Order: sequence, then structure tokens, then C-alpha cells
Amino acid sequence: MVTRIAAAQEAQWLERLRLAMPDEVIVPFRDLTSAQRSLVDIAIVANPDPAEIAQLPALVWVHSLWAGVERLVAELPGFRPPIVRLVDPELARTMGEAGLAWTYYLFRDMADYARQQRARNWSQLPYRPPSAVTVGILGLGALGANAARRIRSAGFLVVGWSRSPKKIDGVQCHDGDAGLAEVLRQSDILLVLLPLTQNTRNLLDAERLAMLPKGAKIINFARGAIIDKGALVAALDAGEIAHAVLDVFEVEPLPKDDALWDHPSVTVLPHISAPTDAGTAAAVVTGNIARYRRDGIIPPAIDQARGY
Ligand code: NAP
Repeated sequence: MVTRIAAAQEAQWLERLRLAMPDEVIVPFRDLTSAQRSLVDIAIVANPDPAEIAQLPALVWVHSLWAGVERLVAELPGFRPPIVRLVDPELARTMGEAGLAWTYYLFRDMADYARQQRARNWSQLPYRPPSAVTVGILGLGALGANAARRIRSAGFLVVGWSRSPKKIDGVQCHDGDAGLAEVLRQSDILLVLLPLTQNTRNLLDAERLAMLPKGAKIINFARGAIIDKGALVAALDAGEIAHAVLDVFEVEPLPKDDALWDHPSVTVLPHISAPTDAGTAAAVVTGNIARYRRDGIIPPAIDQARGY
């Protein structure tokens, strides 16, 4: 196991993984003897030190405990062994729940009513049913597709965007540059669930944010760097975008002196939209490793050139 996470967190993962896989020898990198290092065939990783990974010459594949792999891809350029990321139905369920919860928050004007209360302002904002509100979802992968179904089931109109064409019942799916423009044009609420790659960094720049309807609202549950922060703040200040719920930032924790903390049209969340459940995640990792030992099949890996 190769990690750069807090010792207590690593110890909890180790305990769970060892309990779930009694036939495997699971050892933190620092405790491996040099003989053991030359035998390791699978690395279970969480923010690993690339220098440690480089000391495992027999590595066949890597299993990340996280769903997002942009840091691994950036820190291991040219790495050959397949990298398998966490794909956990429980994570998708939690993210779908968060997507729906914060869609409701924006849809039922909770941020506006909180602002009005502070100003002792008794004003009733117009109600629109979910069927009159379009939620755009950028990224229709393990997390985005599930969020799309969940938000659709709540009665909202849902449009989505991915790299390759998709079919999801009841969801208008788009791809390509023209597809992105179409999704942005329609989105009263935009939920971002893309991976951070060279193609998605600063994807939502001033020009693309301006394609949203006036007064649109944004939820970013993916990675901070996908949205150009300066452009977002300018659009919020100008009232072009009414509110942003941000769970992810380029620098985390968000620095104490960051202006986003006090922005009246921003909700700051501390990266909590979909916490990894160690129990279900360990079961997924265990299942993947057991299948490999039994059949020699490595689970679907990320495309390292594509970045996700
Ligand atoms: P995934 O299964 O790999 O799905 C990614 C989706 O984005 C796919 O639909 C993919 O299109 C699309 N995409 C990627 N690059 C694109 C591009 N250039 N243009 C258009 N579409 C593009 O990933 P996931 O499991 O859903 O996770 C998404 C991200 O959520 C993770 O990378 C991570 O950063 C973030 N996350 C956040 C939290 C949190 O607590 N805030 C928790 C877990 C994960 P295709 O379908 O065509 O490949």
C-alpha cells in the first residue's frame, strides 16, 4: 500500500483491507523489505509518492482508492502499468444524492431566502415547478449518469454532456463543442461532474459561462480548476450567474483569505459532496483483486494519455 495520507487514515484502510483480504499480504510501503519490494505485483494507492512507486519493479497494476486520478496521472508521466480507479456504486449514490440536494437548494431559492432573512426582507419569489427547470450535467460517467437519472426522477428536465455519445432514458445527451454550447444555453442549473484533464482545465471560461442563461446557477462537485475562478466571480458580481455552490477548489483547504468565503453569491463546501465510504470502497477493491487472482483479469483501467 503506497499512500501519502494521514497515518490514522492509512491505518484504518489497512485494517479494513487486511480483514477483507486475509490471503493477501498488504504492507505499507515503508514496512516493505527490499526483497518484498521486488515482489509487489499490485499497489493499492492513495496520493502515492511517485518515488516509492518507482521502487516496485514487478508492479503489474495499480488500484487507486480514489475516484479522481488527475494527481496520479500528473505525477506518474509515462507510467506503464494499468491504473484502476475506484468505481463504487455507493459513491455514485452519494453523489447523486448531493446533486439532487443542492439542485433543490438552488431551485427552491434557499440561498436567496437566507440573504433576504438577514436583510429582514419579506418577499415571495416566484415558484416554478421542476418540469420548468433544466439541469445541465457536464460529465455522464459513473457519477454524472447516476446524478442525471436521480435529478430526472425528481421531475427536472435534464440535459447532459460527455466526450462520447451517450443514451440515458429521459436525458437529452450531447457531446462535442456544439453539444457543450447547447447544454450551457439550456441550463438553469449546471452541475459539473467532469474529471480534471488537459481538456477540461478552465473549460468553463468567461466565454462559456456567458453561454448560460442570465441568472443561471452552478454546482461544481468535480474539481476547482475546471472553472476559471476569475471569470466565475466576474459573472457572479455582474449578476449574470446568480449563485455558485462550490465543493472543490484549486487549493484545498480553501485558504482563509480567499474572497470566495465571503462572496454573497457563493456557497463554500469543504469537499463533502461524495465522501469515499471506506467499507464499500474496500469491498470494491477486494472484489477486483480477487477476480484478478482467480482469472488474471485486470479491471478496466484509465486511459493515461486521455487523463481519466
Ligand atoms: P468517469 O466515470 O470517468 O466519467 C467522466 C465523464 O466525463 C464521462 O462521461 C466522460 O465522457 C466525461 N468527459 C471527460 N472528459 C471530457 C471532455 N473533454 N469532454 C466532454 N466530456 C468529458 O468519472 P466519475 O467517476 O463520474 O467522476 C467524475 C469526477 O468527479 C472525478 O474525476 C473526480 O474529480 C470527481 N469527484 C468528486 C468527488 C467529491 O467529493 N467532490 C468525489 C468523487 C469524484 P465519456 O463518457 O465519453 O468518457
